[in-house]
Amino acid sequence: MASLPDPITALITALGKLPGIGPRSAERLALHLVQGEAAGVHQLAEALVNARERIQLCETCGGLTEKTPCGICSDPRRNPSPLCVVERPVDIISIEKCGGFHGKYHVLGGKISPLDGVDPEDLRIAELETRLKSEPIQELIIALGTDVEGDATGYYLAKRLGGKGVKISRIAHGLPAGSGLEFADEMTLTRALEGRREMEA
Ligand SMILES: [Zn+2]
Repeated sequence: MASLPDPITALITALGKLPGIGPRSAERLALHLVQGEAAGVHQLAEALVNARERIQLCETCGGLTEKTPCGICSDPRRNPSPLCVVERPVDIISIEKCGGFHGKYHVLGGKISPLDGVDPEDLRIAELETRLKSEPIQELIIALGTDVEGDATGYYLAKRLGGKGVKISRIAHGLPAGSGLEFADEMTLTRALEGRREMEA
């Protein structure tokens, strides 16, 4: 069997590194791209590079933004008191889609997981402590996934940050067990936020 020309193989390899793209999908996409309109491919390449170069993490919340601080952090109409603590930037997008939360956010950048070598120092917890001192935050809403690491991280945060005049609550269960926020539909996520419960420090 004749092998594919090198540029196509290189494209398949690159596409195959994307999440959710298996070898077959990578091959199908690559063959589609090299046979498609050149203008369309240029547009795609430009959009990729452009997005990557212009998007950065907000220095305050850790969310995705074109300029820092981001639109949410710098919006005076947002309630500065409830701060929703999430694992990843994409979780902000999930909660914003529900439209029911008007406070601000803080992205941890992961969950504590000793088995995977993720310790508290690897997360944006020190940044969170700084914000608690400098912003009028009265409530921390822990909105992490419902898996073991999410639970452990929530308890760690309640222990480390609780008892300093800040109420710490955890979004209600009812989210799909063992999953992240992106798998919850908007209604479930809204109910989970509304039904949050205060955690013991
Ligand atoms: Zn921000």
